[in-house]
Order: sequence, then C-alpha cells, then structure tokens
Amino acid sequence: MSNDAHKELNRLREEIREHDRRYYALGQPNISDREYDRLLERVREIETLHPDWITPDSPTQRVGGEPLSGFEHVEHAVPMLSVDNTYDESQLREFDQRIQKRLEGEAYSYLVDAKIDGVAISLTYEYGLLTLGATRGDGTRGDDVTANCRAIQSVPLRLGGENIPRVIDIRGEIYWPRIAFDAFNEKRIANGEAPFANPRNATTGTLKQLDPSRIVGRGLAFSAHGVGRLEPLDDFPDSNLELYELMRSWGVAVYTDVKCVDSIDAAIDVCKAFGETRATLGYEVDGMVLKIDSRKQRERLGFTSRYPRWCIAYKYEAEQGESVLLDVDFQVGKLGTITPRAKMEPVLLAGTTVRHASLHNFDQVERLDVRIGDTIIVEKAGEIIPQVVRVVTEKRPKNAKPIKRPTKCPACGSPVEQDEGGVYLRCTSIDCVAQRKERLIYFCHRDQMDIEGAGKVLIEQLVDAGLVRDCADFYTLHTKRDQIAAIERMGEQSTDNFLAGIETSKEKPLSKLLAALNIRFVGGSTAAAIAEHFENIDTVMAATVEDLLEVDGVGDELAASVHTFFQNKSNRDVIRRLRNAGVNLTQPKKSTDSSGPFAGLTVVVTGTLEELTRNKAHELIESLGGKVSKSISKKTDLLVVGAKAGSKLAKAEKLGVEVIDETEFIRRAEA
Ligand SMILES: [Zn+2]
Repeated sequence: MSNDAHKELNRLREEIREHDRRYYALGQPNISDREYDRLLERVREIETLHPDWITPDSPTQRVGGEPLSGFEHVEHAVPMLSVDNTYDESQLREFDQRIQKRLEGEAYSYLVDAKIDGVAISLTYEYGLLTLGATRGDGTRGDDVTANCRAIQSVPLRLGGENIPRVIDIRGEIYWPRIAFDAFNEKRIANGEAPFANPRNATTGTLKQLDPSRIVGRGLAFSAHGVGRLEPLDDFPDSNLELYELMRSWGVAVYTDVKCVDSIDAAIDVCKAFGETRATLGYEVDGMVLKIDSRKQRERLGFTSRYPRWCIAYKYEAEQGESVLLDVDFQVGKLGTITPRAKMEPVLLAGTTVRHASLHNFDQVERLDVRIGDTIIVEKAGEIIPQVVRVVTEKRPKNAKPIKRPTKCPACGSPVEQDEGGVYLRCTSIDCVAQRKERLIYFCHRDQMDIEGAGKVLIEQLVDAGLVRDCADFYTLHTKRDQIAAIERMGEQSTDNFLAGIETSKEKPLSKLLAALNIRFVGGSTAAAIAEHFENIDTVMAATVEDLLEVDGVGDELAASVHTFFQNKSNRDVIRRLRNAGVNLTQPKKSTDSSGPFAGLTVVVTGTLEELTRNKAHELIESLGGKVSKSISKKTDLLVVGAKAGSKLAKAEKLGVEVIDETEFIRRAEA
C-alpha cells in the first residue's frame, strides 16, 4: 500500500515537472491551471501522510524553512563578467573585424538575443539538482539567493530529461514580466501602498527579500542566456544554440527568439528589426547581445581584463520625455561638491516614473539656460540617472525664474567656493554635516568596508543623534547598544546585525580601508595598488610624495593628496583610534603559485599594453609565481613589451634577456 503511494508520488512529481517544462521552457502548456493545482494538491496529501518522503526538489518545497537573517557571499567558479556595449552600428562592425582577425579567416556565426533588463543570476545544478542561486555581485563574488530563486516558479528545482551534466552553472536574468508587475502594483495600490516604479529595480528589491514566502505570487520569471561551468565538457555540443536546445529539453526557460546568423550585416538587421517591436513586448529589453556561437572559438577569443572578447551588446538609444521644471535643489557630496538637481513633474521614461533629473553642475545650468517653470527634455540612458538635455524655449512662461548659484552651503550654511577649473561649487567647511553623512555612507558601502545594515537612513540618524561623527566612532558603538536600539524603527535584531557587521568589517584588508577613508582621488583600484605596495598603514603614513609615486597608477595629484591626508592631525587621530579598536591595518600577501608559468622568474613590463593594464600584468606575474621588477639588469629573466617600448627594450636585447610581446605573455599566463 505504502509502496504504491510512493510510486504515485514519484509519478506525480515527474508529471508536474513535465508540465513546468512545457509551460516555462517550451511555452506550450497542455493542462489547465486547475488540473495542475489538483496534481500539486495530491502531492501535498501524500507528503502529509509520509513526511519522510519529502525531498528538496519536490514541487511543494519551493518555499520552506525560516526567513534568512542575511545573505552569504559565494565565489563564482567562472566569473560573471559584464558585456562590452555600444550604441553605435559602426562599432559592431569594428567588433566583427576584430573577431575575423583573431579567428584568422575561419567561419563563425553569431547568436543574437534580446538583453532582458533584469537581475543577472547564476543557477548551479549538480547532477540535475538546483544547489545554488547567486547574484552577479562584483563578478567574482555574489550573494547566495538560492532560497529566493527556488521560490520563482520558472526556475526548475531539478532538471529533467536526458544527458544531465554533472555540474552546470546556468546564467540568465531574473526579471519581472509587465503583466505580473502591473498586477502586483494593482494589489499594492488596493492595499493603500505606493506602487513600484520600475520592474528592474523592483526585481532587485524582491531578490533581497529575506523571507522567500513573500516572493511567491509576484510572478518573477527566469530566462537563461548562457553557461558558466559545464562538466563533463566533452559530452556537450560545441554550438551554444544546440546547448540552448538541450537546456530547454531539461526544462530551462531559454530566451525563445534567439537568432543564429553568419554575418555582421545579418546580425545588425536582427537588432534593427527587434528595435521596432521592443516597446510591444511583455518585458523590458534595453538592447541585443551578439555572441559567437562556438564554445571552442569563444575559448580562443578569450577575455580582455574586463569583458569577454566574443560578445558585445548593442544598446538602443535612450528614451526621452518632456516635463516641467518645478524647482532645483542642491545636494552636498562627500567632498563638499554641491550639485544642482532638477525636481520636475513626474514623467514616464523607459518604464520608470521619474521626478528628479541631474543638472550636473552650474556651468551646465548656464549652458542649458534652464529656468524654473521651463518645459524640459529629459533622457534616461541605461542605468544612469536621467538628465536634462535641453529646454523647449518656445514653451517658456513669462515668469520663468533663473537658477542662482548658492553662496552658502544648503546643509551647514558655510560659504561656498568655486572649484579649481570653475565647474563645481564646494562647501568650504570641513565640519559640514551633509559631507560627514555622505562620507560615512561611503565608508560603510559594500564596495568599501561592507558593513551590513548600515544604510543611508540609519547613518543619518546616528549622526543626528550624535552617536557617530567620524568612521572610527563606528567601532565604539557596541558600548552604546541601547541608544542605537532606541533609534526609530531599529529594534533589537537589526541593532545586533548592524553591530555584528561592524565587528566583521574589522577584518577587511588595508586596501578596503584606504578606499573607505575618502581620500581625494583615491578609488578602489588605487587603494589596492597602494595597500599592496606598502603592505601596512604605517609605511603608507610615512611615505613621501616620491615614495607614493613609485606605486603604479599613482600620479602627482594623487600622491600629493594621499600625503596631505596623512599629514593632517585629525586624520592621523582617526587611524590611531581605528588601531586601538582592533581594525586590521595591513594588507595580506598575495598567495603565489610556485609552479606557475613565471615561477622563479624576474619579469619587467614596459611600453603600453593593449589588453591588460600595467597593474593587471604585474598581478598576473606575481600570482603565477614571478617577481616584478621595474628595471632591466642581469637578473632579469623576461621582458614583456607593449607599444612604444623605449630604452628598456634596447638594454634587454644588449643583455640577452628574453623579450616577448603581450599576446605571448597572455598565452603563457593562460597556459
Ligand atoms: Zn556644508
């Protein structure tokens, strides 16, 4: 009896999986929703009687367990690189010429598919079972959002069918189809809640939900457009188009209208034709992606330091809209820069209701001759904040009011001064509350110290409550737990999470701290270069401008800025307090590979490289076991030359040092 029930359960699960595949992957349902629900109900019945038969891939188990307290970071086995993009047809042709050259006359074809505007996701299946769903993050590490992916109906919990790989990372986009998005908004409005403005942002927000049960019923969808890891590779077709077919047979929703063409002209035709119809689609598309179909050819083409060389996105021109300028407010940035921002009548732009637009700076305001009351044209391109592109002067009302440059800081009332070069206005006070808040927000941001729970609103409240003045104050907050918990809407749990986030941030490498300190001109990559060069904060603080100029990528302006920053008494005091609080002030040594292709070799790089930055080349050498040197001597084993190599090349040739070009260098590094 119980054996029969078990068989029935397995059969029902298989049947439901097949219906999911027909519905989501093939778009050919052959069963009504009611019948489907009946099958699901029967599975639930059997599982209630036999709870030990419940498996994680059962269709009843899309949502289970407790809400999460946060997301773990996970490393991508194959990085999720972004795709190079262009708005320009001629650049597509240049891209094609590079491909032709690199493939040396071999035939090739392009897959052309729509670039759905959603959130990039990687779904890992091991022996067919969904084991991980991860966001792109910074490309190498993302958030583990498996529980949320499971709650999305078009994500298969198990792959069905033949020839299932041992491991596959299916890459794609989670997005919110228009119909489901509008329906969800209607419900919100009916509940007296504000509707979401933009499907893509709302999708991002939904994936950040800690309680997966809140995702069910929102109608988010998944569409695959690529593959990361695939094992065993030899069992699968070289053509990605064929691989798509196979994925569809496993129940994966792959973008349905992929075109495979064998010339750039045909690819451009597909892009143009699609551009005509995209407004009528049930989801947002911001461009088309051209990819080489063959996996082997993709491997040969490889990557630049940022993008795969075998694909490019063609983006459609930004949408423009007309609105009326109601007012201009002034925002103060973390270094005191005051920027004007347009407040305007709401306008629908590329699927988003927009109320604000950037005016960049006061020179721009004057150039546009924009006045309050004017009818303006705003444009939204990609992810960039919409901007005012021109004024419809014919529609200017008589009482239109010119915009005056502020003479005082709108946040603290201190006098403002014109920036060098004259484009920006800057608040002159180092004690400006608006700047302080912005600096602290920046300090806690994911790209810097990554302090969990430290959002904009909380930081503003902490500053207003006098609990935090500078970044070192974060590390004393554990003694003020009750005061934090008393802050509006904080509560015990979030307070503890926030304090734990502060504690965790103490372990960040020096590179992150240097980036977080708001030193003028110092961004993430320069901070990393400085931290790796000097290895600890004391040598950075003791460094002269000349010492700093030794660091790759550091020029006069930057060296002077870092030096001045650490000469400042109150900045040194912040470092002292961070040290006392136990914040890490050192940079871990990079692990090197003693069997790598450059193991034991002293390597010099000279001239201008095409694919790699100088820093990247040095990193590669060091991570593959080599030692980087700046000058040629008898001890040099290898010289890598880029364009315009000067005296080093001559010297290397004289000393009999082996000389290779960038292509050969990359080949060896990848060997
Ligand atoms: Zn100010």
